[in-house]
Amino acid sequence: MQPSNADNTVRAMQMNVKPIPTLDDEVNEVRLATAEIINEDILPVEDKLWASTSDGRGPSREAQQEASELRHGVQERVKRAKLWAPHLPPEFGGMGLSFMQHAYMNEVLAYSPGAASLFGVVAPNSGNQKILVKYGTPEQHQKWLIPLTEGRMQSGFSMTEPMNPGSDPRSLTTRAELDGDEWVINGHKWFTSNGHAADFYIVMCRTADPDDPGGANEKMTQIIVPKNTPGVNIIRGVPVWGKASSHCEIKYENVRVPKDNQLGRTGTGHAAAQDRLGAGRIYHCMNSVGSMWRCFDLMVDRIMTRKVHGGETLEHKQFMQGFIADSYMDIQSSRLMVVDCAQKMEAGADSRTDISSIKVYVPAAYHRVVDRAIQVYGAAGVSGDFPFAGMYTGARTLRIADGPDEVHKILIAKNVLRRYHAGESWDFGN
Ligand SMILES: Cc1cc2nc3c(=O)[nH]c(=O)nc-3n(C[C@H](O)[C@H](O)[C@H](O)COP(=O)(O)OP(=O)(O)OC[C@H]3O[C@@H](n4cnc5c(N)ncnc54)[C@H](O)[C@@H]3O)c2cc1C
Repeated sequence: MQPSNADNTVRAMQMNVKPIPTLDDEVNEVRLATAEIINEDILPVEDKLWASTSDGRGPSREAQQEASELRHGVQERVKRAKLWAPHLPPEFGGMGLSFMQHAYMNEVLAYSPGAASLFGVVAPNSGNQKILVKYGTPEQHQKWLIPLTEGRMQSGFSMTEPMNPGSDPRSLTTRAELDGDEWVINGHKWFTSNGHAADFYIVMCRTADPDDPGGANEKMTQIIVPKNTPGVNIIRGVPVWGKASSHCEIKYENVRVPKDNQLGRTGTGHAAAQDRLGAGRIYHCMNSVGSMWRCFDLMVDRIMTRKVHGGETLEHKQFMQGFIADSYMDIQSSRLMVVDCAQKMEAGADSRTDISSIKVYVPAAYHRVVDRAIQVYGAAGVSGDFPFAGMYTGARTLRIADGPDEVHKILIAKNVLRRYHAGESWDFGN
């Protein structure tokens, strides 16, 4: 358990999750069962689970061994509770949750940073698994999806390129050419997350030129490339926020893979990328809500216990009361926007404007919430004793990854203007 009160001594604090009267029993059961594991199995050992150190030295072998055993123990409990891999159907080892159930589960499991991997739903594997379920052949399921789901393999998604704007996937230049029964791939990617550990990458490749026949979004194909294929050259893990990372820069140089490694029909790469991002944005935003929830609990705890000038606790200071109110509003507005968007998606309504709205609004709210928590904790807020530093850089990164803010704001404005040009105004009730 991390130190959380005024003098940084250890104090247990649990996530307070109760049934929501307006939700059906199944969603409530999933939320409560997830919270039970977070509270009983994860929070009490959170400082040991990842064998992290803040003194510049790596963790000892014993600490790593202990961390590995603890993680394994939690994963076993998660599986027994039938909460493993909420994004996958049962035939592939998942829970077969509905979209809304998964969304509501995420706000609970994201309370503890890194817990997603203990529930078998960690990016980029989770996105790749969804693409493999939808676009993969039975042979691809056996060869790649099952080992990935069982944790025997790791994967990466290789789309972004250093020389082209990732915010415009139509600009990508990594090329795949057919030569007999093989794809020959040449190109330069970067920020392929999990690149070092991955056994294979799903690579977004151009398989038609911009002026070739066919729609603008039918020129790309996603192709499975095993990491050990000759010509796959990892240049480096790109340092992120001043630290070494596994977000890899990779050159694909005359990489040959069987034609059968392509996912779906030729030209469906763009559609598959959209599939990956649409629902994924709901899940990411609900994760951010869970992280904000944690920040809020920690911040209020500190405000109630830290004594300042004159011996009064921070709760008597109006600046601090403002922090509580502003963070409450940031979290509630984010949460309600995401739930509303998810409900529209589930109902099959046009939710594009709402998806872009949450993609911009929620990371910004998360940034504000964690920023206030850091301020309240003072020096401890930027120390490695609390989870804020990772949350802060994570929230900032979210404003770029999966489409930068500006691109989503342009989309929102376009959708609104289209309607007004058509003689209609906006109906905020639908
Ligand atoms: C930590 C991290 C992990 C990542 N993991 C992966 C991964 O696993 N696989 C992968 O393929 N990619 C990954 N990415 C890459 C990510 O998807 C891209 O960074 C993102 O799509 C933006 O592309 P870009 O970096 O090329 O920025 P650009 O597209 O060059 O945009 C840069 C900036 O230009 C501005 N801008 C862009 N378009 C417009 C516009 N139309 N109007 C006004 N302003 C605009 C915005 O301010 C934007 O931030 C990751 C990125 C990060 C930071």
